[in-house]
Amino acid sequence: MAKRRIKVSRAGIAIALSALEGFSKPKVSAEQYMTEPDIAATILWDAYMKGDISGKRVADLGSGTGVLGIGAILLGAAKVFLIEQDKEAMEIAKENLGNIESESSAEFVLGDVKEFSSKVDTVIMNPPFGTKSEHSDKRFLENAFDIGNVVYSLHKTETKKFIEAFAKDNKFKITQVMDFSYPLKATMDFHSKGVEKINVSCFRFVKDNT
Ligand code: SAH
Repeated sequence: MAKRRIKVSRAGIAIALSALEGFSKPKVSAEQYMTEPDIAATILWDAYMKGDISGKRVADLGSGTGVLGIGAILLGAAKVFLIEQDKEAMEIAKENLGNIESESSAEFVLGDVKEFSSKVDTVIMNPPFGTKSEHSDKRFLENAFDIGNVVYSLHKTETKKFIEAFAKDNKFKITQVMDFSYPLKATMDFHSKGVEKINVSCFRFVKDNT
């Protein structure tokens, strides 16, 4: 199959991301939800316009099937690390990237995000929200603050107060919050109501050097 060349525009990215494969058998315990392509495109395009992607080193923590990391690749990141502990999800991400033409360098890292310590300019992630494993969003954030200067991260909107306090403790300031209604598709057995929506926010954190 010919590789797809993507037009660098918000719409072009949204279309490219919606053509990617999602999780074949999402694992409930790892809270595997693919970021809805249109939401991913909105976040990535905003990051791109702020100068946080093109030519930068980017890390996608808990990359799953690769939507965010591949989006960063499409937007001209110099190097993208995709860190994921689930081998099956990573195989799908590799296939997804294989179908795309790009000049960026991609590095897949199989393992726990806490083992990953390479410094990057930008972290972009949709971590587990911590509903199955307590505080996993906190652990992801801690790791992101260790390695990045700018962090984009999705969290349940209701956790905003905690996120603000946690960022402050780690000497990061929140410069922007984007609110979304996030469809949790009925891919998990326990979701019987079809498409359920939850309110999530994408926070942009910047290292506070003042
Ligand atoms: N970033 C993807 C997937 C989000 S779901 C997207 O936006 O679509 C969260 C992902 O984090 C899952 O793929 C899950 O397997 C992975 N994950 C959960 N805990 C992890 C950990 N400790 N280390 C690495 N990956 C982890």
